[in-house]
Amino acid sequence: QKLLSIQKLAILGSTGSIGTQALDIVRQHPDKFEIVALTAHSNWELLAEQVNEFQPRYTVISDEEHVEVLSDTVSDTEVLSGSTELADIASLDEVDTVLNALVGFAGFESTLSAINAGKKVALANKESLVVGGALIKNALQQSGAQLLPVDSEHSAMFQCLTGENRKDIEKIIITASGGPFRELNRSEMQEVTVEQALDHPNWNMGAKITIDSATMMNKGLEIIEAHWLFDLPVKQIEPVIHPQSIIHSMITFVDGSSKAQLGLPDMKVPIIYALSYPERWTLDTPRMDWKEAQNLTFEPVDYEKFPCVKLAMDSITEGPYAPAVLNAANEVAVDRFLKREIGYIDIPKIVEKSLANIQSKDSLNVETLKEIDKETRSYAESLTK
Ligand code: NAD
Ligand code: MG
Repeated sequence: QKLLSIQKLAILGSTGSIGTQALDIVRQHPDKFEIVALTAHSNWELLAEQVNEFQPRYTVISDEEHVEVLSDTVSDTEVLSGSTELADIASLDEVDTVLNALVGFAGFESTLSAINAGKKVALANKESLVVGGALIKNALQQSGAQLLPVDSEHSAMFQCLTGENRKDIEKIIITASGGPFRELNRSEMQEVTVEQALDHPNWNMGAKITIDSATMMNKGLEIIEAHWLFDLPVKQIEPVIHPQSIIHSMITFVDGSSKAQLGLPDMKVPIIYALSYPERWTLDTPRMDWKEAQNLTFEPVDYEKFPCVKLAMDSITEGPYAPAVLNAANEVAVDRFLKREIGYIDIPKIVEKSLANIQSKDSLNVETLKEIDKETRSYAESLTK
């Protein structure tokens, strides 16, 4: 007989695409969770609704402008604000599990803080591993914390690796939908609009990752994420276009056998797996009908059309700061594209120029990482003027 245990959960970024889906899972399994903390950047209205429903002890709204109105709207919760508070929430004694569903470099310190405090960390914020993979691995080894991937490809890899030895991996095949512009030629890409880029064929996600999927920078970031999660050189991680997004990734082992994880594209599956592991819990979402004819197709990545993939893959060997530079430049470029200040094809150009402009630092630590992030942002911004 199993003991009924309740996970005390902090959801960072609870108002986002991943955060709201995680709360749906909590609604489906109310006996398995106690919500200790919820956080958001500026959407205080939705945060207030969530706080009233789930009654967390702590609430963080990072945009200080909304602290007052939020405090006036909610009760029986401690309302906090600021980036230090956001990182501190992740290390609270009352918390067992941290779901990091923040977007961008803003999520890095919370990941590190949760790991240093020995938490179970369900990580959606891939940028954490991209910018500070080496620091995070170090912290994991010292604290004994558990890092579980939420990204669908990495959850697939993780599920394929259950019962296997990491040393038996020959290759990871990371699948990519190819996004909305897979079939455009280079001149058509010059005309791409924000609306077209935001219209992803298979997934409904936050704006930043949707643009990253359109440029395929997302796949580049995910290759770096897999490199740190599974301890594998980038040359053993092969991206493959699979437009139907049914196979979420595959592992080929040293004996030539491959394992894959399949299902309809639905982020709730990897989210619940990160929370339930090593168990599986019921999830009330649509299932594949395997009797229905369905073509699963595959093709290579066109690196000329999607230069971001290569820029990301190469950054890993370009020095300890290069992925952080890549990430910061990309965040700026995506933000400017969403504001219609630059074009779609300017995104890889800004990233490439920023990588060429790296000023290296003596040693890799949180402070120097923050400096690099800040310096790159101002350099990348100067390129958008
Ligand atoms: P989103 O934009 O929908 O939500 C982001 C959340 O973080 C919101 O709650 C927002 O309030 C908060 N936030 C944003 N900026 C912040 C800041 N500067 N400081 C503090 N909080 C901030 O994003 P999302 O699509 O849910 O993605 C979250 C993370 O999960 C990203 O790293 C993304 O790459 C990853 N991911 C998302 C999906 C998906 O389907 N959405 C799939 C795989 C991985
Ligand atoms: Mg993914």
